[in-house]
Amino acid sequence: MQTRVLPPTQESLALAADILKSGSLVAFPTETVYGLGADALNEHAVRAIFAAKGRPADNPLIVHVSRPEAAQALCRIDSRAQSLMARFCPGPLTLLLPKKPCVPAAVNAGLPSVAVRIPSHPVARRLLEVCGVPVAAPSANASGKPSPTTAAHVLHDLDGKVPLILDGGECQVGLESTVVDLTSPIATVLRPGGVTPDMLLEVLPEVRVADSVLRPLRDDERALSPGMRYRHYAPGGQMTLVRGSQPRVERACLRLYRKAQERGESACILAFEEHLPAYAQARAMSIGSLAQPQTVAHRLFAVLRQMDDEGVAVLCCEVLPPEGLGLAIMNRLSRAAAFRVLDADKEEQA
Ligand code: AMP
Ligand code: MG
Repeated sequence: MQTRVLPPTQESLALAADILKSGSLVAFPTETVYGLGADALNEHAVRAIFAAKGRPADNPLIVHVSRPEAAQALCRIDSRAQSLMARFCPGPLTLLLPKKPCVPAAVNAGLPSVAVRIPSHPVARRLLEVCGVPVAAPSANASGKPSPTTAAHVLHDLDGKVPLILDGGECQVGLESTVVDLTSPIATVLRPGGVTPDMLLEVLPEVRVADSVLRPLRDDERALSPGMRYRHYAPGGQMTLVRGSQPRVERACLRLYRKAQERGESACILAFEEHLPAYAQARAMSIGSLAQPQTVAHRLFAVLRQMDDEGVAVLCCEVLPPEGLGLAIMNRLSRAAAFRVLDADKEEQA
């Protein structure tokens, strides 16, 4: 199959809508990351998403709609969902709600809930409006790879596997949506994203953050958030997160870097913009500004992909407090590093 990459003109949006309605796949930009879409009510089309990505069938998909009324056809919307939608939708927020029978089991891995989102990206919105069907869409990467934030990332992973990629430039947020489970009495963040727990608390009286957000899932946590189970957001090289007081973090990163060099392995330090001068003698790359975490969210996956393209074998990465948007960034970084963390303070005391 030949993969076409087209700008989001009226013509190519009409073509994309036709492709979706005929049961095939279209990759399209959203404000979070690029999505790989199929008609959510067409089981055969939905299965094609799993095949193209190499995604395990027990990892459910998010269904995208253009407005709350369209969500109503798919799930039962309670007053909490209504308030959240009124405040944050369209936007980077996904709600898990009790599903209605029309949702095929392939979409939600046979679970009682379905994930719905109303994206704010103008191309995604226009596509949803033109095609008129709910669109199931996970991130448009090969399963296990960092999510794509440009059309070039999608092409890299899915060339020959999808007929069309709509190129809408770089995604603004850069991390996947916040996933909030509303199927139990207390709203629970299963995956942190651009809408932070504090923002949710502006609308809801109580919000819990699943503690699996910053640690590996246990075996019995499978049904809660299947997507968090898999090695995710992962670069090809071995990544270590380095925490502690800043001068010690810098010394520890440089030590790991030199050791890799001595072994003849290519290495790179991923540091906040503000700290780059400390790594002048090493190969270091900015992951954005510590003072502006949204710049880190925006860049993170592109940086991880660049490391892969360059075949970097050893990555040492600085960390930030898991607060606000920092929670989503640390959730992705922890998984990219397979939870490998070095405490620079303890290491120097030892
Ligand atoms: P992706 O669209 O690739 O970012 O993945 C969607 C995320 O939402 C994954 O982490 C899924 O496990 C999660 N998700 C989607 N639907 C459900 C559901 N019904 N129950 C629990 N988690 C879900
Ligand atoms: Mg994904």
